[in-house]
Amino acid sequence: MARKKIIAGNWKMNTTASEAAALAKDVVGAVSGAADVDVVVCPPYVNLSAVAEAIKGSNVKLGAQDVHWEAKGAFTGKVSCDMLKAVGVDYVIIGHSEQRQYFGETNETVNKKTKATLAAGLIPIVCVGETLEERESGKMDGVLESQTKGGFDGISAADAAKCVVAYEPVWAIGTGKTATSQQANEAHIFIRSILSKLYGTDTAGAIRIQYGGSMKPDNAKELLAQSDVDGGLIGGAALKASDFAGIVQPK
Ligand code: PEP
Repeated sequence: MARKKIIAGNWKMNTTASEAAALAKDVVGAVSGAADVDVVVCPPYVNLSAVAEAIKGSNVKLGAQDVHWEAKGAFTGKVSCDMLKAVGVDYVIIGHSEQRQYFGETNETVNKKTKATLAAGLIPIVCVGETLEERESGKMDGVLESQTKGGFDGISAADAAKCVVAYEPVWAIGTGKTATSQQANEAHIFIRSILSKLYGTDTAGAIRIQYGGSMKPDNAKELLAQSDVDGGLIGGAALKASDFAGIVQPK
């Protein structure tokens, strides 16, 4: 099944509003010719409006780095799906390993956020991935299985087909260590097999699985050429428009 590639930039806690708008404009210019790829930028919450304005009328879509599952109320510091929609967000990164590692994200909260995001008509990018210790001690498959099953628990096949999954081996994030294209593809095939057990092969075959972890212009082409690598979730290299564009359209 042909899956349209999707490249998303996770800007993390970087950029002021003016820096974000400038970077977004540079990205728009650099990827304007990329018709066959979905391109998404995910700035910090406070810069979503500035970036929405900067990408207006372009092929670049807006994403958020997190969301809260409740609609409103006494949840200091949190932002709801409706708030994100109101500023033009289409995609939401959920369960990033930094959220899991530093801010208590669990498979249960990933699941609640994924359900809320889908109910609001937003597209979740559900992140899964093993640590180095889990990989080296043979626990990788179990971790990927429980994160995938946990994240998708109670979600219908029709909704699951709208989701994007990001496979991000924790040991490759921000470290300069990239999974080899073979390691990445094996993990993607494994994740798709879990989705297949949950939803059948047609739905699993429709779900796009991005790779994330030190993806750069010089390794993107090979990673993106793999059978089950349907795009990238990009951290560091998303902060420079020319590098990001070099992943969107690798040479
Ligand atoms: C990420 O944090 O989603 C990521 C993939 O980061 P980097 O590209 O910097 O490894």
